[in-house]
Amino acid sequence: ALLRGIADAMVEEMERGLRRAPRAAQDAHQLRRQPPNREGESETLFLICRALVHGHLRNTSAVFNTTPLSGCWDEQGLFYALDLGGTNFRVIRVQLGGRDKRVVKQQYEEVSIPPHLMVGTSTELFDFIAAELEKFVRTEGENFHLPNGKQRELGFTFSFPVHQTSISSGTLIKWTKGFSINGTVGEDVVAELSRAMERQGLDMKVAALVNDTVGTLAGGRYADNDVVTAVILGTGTNAAYVEHANAIPKWTGLLPRSGNMVINMEWGNFRSDKLPRSEYDKSLDFESLNPGEQIYEKMISGMYLGEIVRRVLLKLAHDASLFGDVVPPKLEQQFILRTPDMSAMHHDTSHDLKHLGAKLKDILGVPDTSLEARYITLHVCDLVAERGARLAAAGIYGILKKLGKDKLLSDFSQQRTVVAIDGGLYEHYKKFSACLEATLTDLLGEEVASSVVVKLANDGSGIGAALLAASHSQYAEVA
Ligand code: BGC
Ligand code: MG
Repeated sequence: ALLRGIADAMVEEMERGLRRAPRAAQDAHQLRRQPPNREGESETLFLICRALVHGHLRNTSAVFNTTPLSGCWDEQGLFYALDLGGTNFRVIRVQLGGRDKRVVKQQYEEVSIPPHLMVGTSTELFDFIAAELEKFVRTEGENFHLPNGKQRELGFTFSFPVHQTSISSGTLIKWTKGFSINGTVGEDVVAELSRAMERQGLDMKVAALVNDTVGTLAGGRYADNDVVTAVILGTGTNAAYVEHANAIPKWTGLLPRSGNMVINMEWGNFRSDKLPRSEYDKSLDFESLNPGEQIYEKMISGMYLGEIVRRVLLKLAHDASLFGDVVPPKLEQQFILRTPDMSAMHHDTSHDLKHLGAKLKDILGVPDTSLEARYITLHVCDLVAERGARLAAAGIYGILKKLGKDKLLSDFSQQRTVVAIDGGLYEHYKKFSACLEATLTDLLGEEVASSVVVKLANDGSGIGAALLAASHSQYAEVA
């Protein structure tokens, strides 16, 4: 009942988000570019607008039209993508071979972001990214072909709330997920990146700016036309889904031919009285880099699960001497328990929980833990992971409900509904993903659940961003 209540609150919030009037300033940008009108492929992933709204889902945004996702991908050529938004960032290149050959070849490189850059200056961060990109471009080799005289083009996956002003520009609304950099909020992140590329002597044009959810949805649809929503469960969390344009009252621009729009929900910022927030959630939020923001994200995503567990263990250590008479000093340190370590502890199946014990020793410096303390720790991991997974499932259920995919169709032609999920939390934390799937099945009921497929869209967002760059390429007409 609690989860259904949360799902309903999510649906209400979605409806509010779709009704809210777009800000005046952005109307001007709604139709910067006419939909490409190439024979056969029509309005390829045409960005129409992104309508920023205020409220809980403050940046619920209508992003682009999706018709041609249904299998007419004629894009060809070499395209780059850059994915910034988690603990790592990624540079990717793909050679697109058109409708039949699709992705002919791809390469990528992953670089972890030095922590000091996440809280440094905008210039430092973008210079670092541009320098890595420049290095990557130099390794292009002969298997990738850029026609003579063509400039390289890039899809920029920037996974933070953005007020998008066109397909290739947008200003940062706020940082999330441990990023806190002065001077970027309110700036056009594409302009920042472009200036940094220039400083590196890198001749490349940003053809598309996308959120990771939107990239994942595009990449997911490229592979499977039944994908209706993309969810990110990684360092942060968010979802995007395909909505009928006529269900978006605030949409005043041109209607896409398909009648479909993509909505980037920014659900990480969802909050509701229905969310079961504990004292640990409240103190975590209060002491975070972004207090009062991203409430749902702080209960679900990879950046925070380990930290919630740490807070519970700390309380138990103080109040119930969980780890003996002395509270391990390291346990006082914020973010010292990372979610991958929590996951490793949680998956310990040895009868005496020796792996869990070893982790506690490594991380907290407690030489010996009692078997009881180890079992309690396991139980805490279980509670926190399960709560996060169930809350995420409620969100997905909310989306399916909003789309009317939570019911059996009367004509027995139940269509396959695919939920594409990307992110390290979902990919690597097996107990989390298993619980999410089981909860979703519970909420939907076995019969409906049998037509809903939840699948890992591994790095869909990289390919998706490259595809979006390709479909908005300045060379599109000649490709
Ligand atoms: C950001 C979203 C992003 C999500 C997943 C959130 O913190 O606000 O834009 O999609 O993380 O990366
Ligand atoms: Mg990512």
